Amino acid sequence: MTSVTSNRYTDTRLLIANDWLDAASGRTINVTNPATGKTIGAVAHAGVADLDRALAAAQRGFEAWRRIPANERALIMRHAAGLLRERAVEIAQLMTQEQGKPLVEARSEVLAGADIIDWFADEGRRAYGRIVPSRNPSAQQLVIKEPVGPVAAFTPWNFPVNQIVRKLGAALASGCSFLLKAPEETPASPAALLQTFVDAGVPAGTVGLVFGDPAEISSYLIPHPIIRKVTFTGSTPVGKQLAALAGAHMKRATMELGGHAPVIVAEDADVELAVKASGAAKFRNAGQICIAPTRFLVHNSLKDAFAKRMVKHAEDLQLGDGLAAGTTLGPLANMRRVAAMENLVDNAQRTGARVVTGGTRMGADGCFFAPTVLEDVPVDADVFNIEPFGPIVAIRGFDTLPEAVAEANRLPYGLAGYGFTGSIRTVHMLTQQMEVGMLWINQPAVTSPEMPFGGIKDSGYGSEGGPEAMEAYLATKCVSVQAV
Ligand code: NAD
Repeated sequence: MTSVTSNRYTDTRLLIANDWLDAASGRTINVTNPATGKTIGAVAHAGVADLDRALAAAQRGFEAWRRIPANERALIMRHAAGLLRERAVEIAQLMTQEQGKPLVEARSEVLAGADIIDWFADEGRRAYGRIVPSRNPSAQQLVIKEPVGPVAAFTPWNFPVNQIVRKLGAALASGCSFLLKAPEETPASPAALLQTFVDAGVPAGTVGLVFGDPAEISSYLIPHPIIRKVTFTGSTPVGKQLAALAGAHMKRATMELGGHAPVIVAEDADVELAVKASGAAKFRNAGQICIAPTRFLVHNSLKDAFAKRMVKHAEDLQLGDGLAAGTTLGPLANMRRVAAMENLVDNAQRTGARVVTGGTRMGADGCFFAPTVLEDVPVDADVFNIEPFGPIVAIRGFDTLPEAVAEANRLPYGLAGYGFTGSIRTVHMLTQQMEVGMLWINQPAVTSPEMPFGGIKDSGYGSEGGPEAMEAYLATKCVSVQAV
């Protein structure tokens, strides 16, 4: 395994009204580097007094930000995106230390974040309403789009920057203020992201950042009258709780939840392409991605060739500290994920699957888990039912496409899906029949700010890309004016 000796890491405070503050109680939470298992810093733990200050700031920030014309808001957002690009290496180093992913992945995440902010900055200039022809010739009917209000956002640790910018970009472009509870395990890179907005000149309170006990914070912020919109990315069970709370208080909500992405490799697929594309999508961020391929359904005529190539792909990865040169697979983000991988592999073996490579924890200190390939996985194995969120390729053969599609649609999730085929007929079938929010055919997951991003079924509702993402932060007002 590759390793490094040391690097700079910063403690994180709360961002309230453009000031970085300790929690009123002075409480903090330790931050651990998953590559070493060592404490590298601390993050402030907000209490109710801090949340009240952050909420009041978000209200003032909303009143100031919404009054800035959209083209000027766009300039400020583009300025922040530029600062993010300038600071990409520094922010990536923070992210790798707190989250584990290889530095090159962390840097591309930051740069992609800047691209997302730019895109939303421009989209905000096009948040048009419309004039609707009236039935009464002396009246004019207007449909106006207005920012919904201060937003409470909850983001997870797997993409500390990217999970924020998809929400933040759309919220700010719409004229909303944005109060974020970012992950306590990866606080410094989100703080560095928000600092670019402060430095770009957003009015105080337009953006805010708190950390603490996630359940305490969400149960305080979501019902609070100042908050008008809730957005959450994370697991399905937590998403259901937060959606219920938002519903009880009539708050608009966007839920980006878990997935269990099927990969259908049809009889006429290019196996080499299928392994290269799905293998890359599988092992990026050590598999801790909601759209990562997770159930590999391979036509029985190709299964052995596919598995053999996937084993080579997995074994060629260089496991190590994400800061070390040459690392292509970092540690998992925390020990919970390591324990989850051990349980999934153990259960798969007991239900009849074969471990072809990997399957074990690596090293004694960090959260390393070997890239793993399982073959002949039964559909009742946990790994085919619980979102794995880790570096496990679980393969199962099929004989007919309808059988594969039925397995793909069997679970309550409906986030991402993948298909590999040379046949346009199969492309049509998969497009029409797979119950997913996003489908990639003959390619790895490629996301862009202009394409909608979101799921169906238990994977949530709402979208975080394309014009649909803006709609989530805009309220519609109808005005009818009668000439007198
Ligand atoms: P978890 O379910 O406890 O937490 C998931 C995320 O939700 C974390 O960021 C956490 O801080 C937040 N959270 C938890 N309870 C909350 C609450 N009551 N209010 C507000 N936020 C809350 O589990 P975990 O161990 O951190 O992650 C495990 C699972 O979560 C993974 O297996 C995966 O399924 C899912 N997950 C999904 C995504 C995603 O991108 N959709 C990201 C991270 C984790």
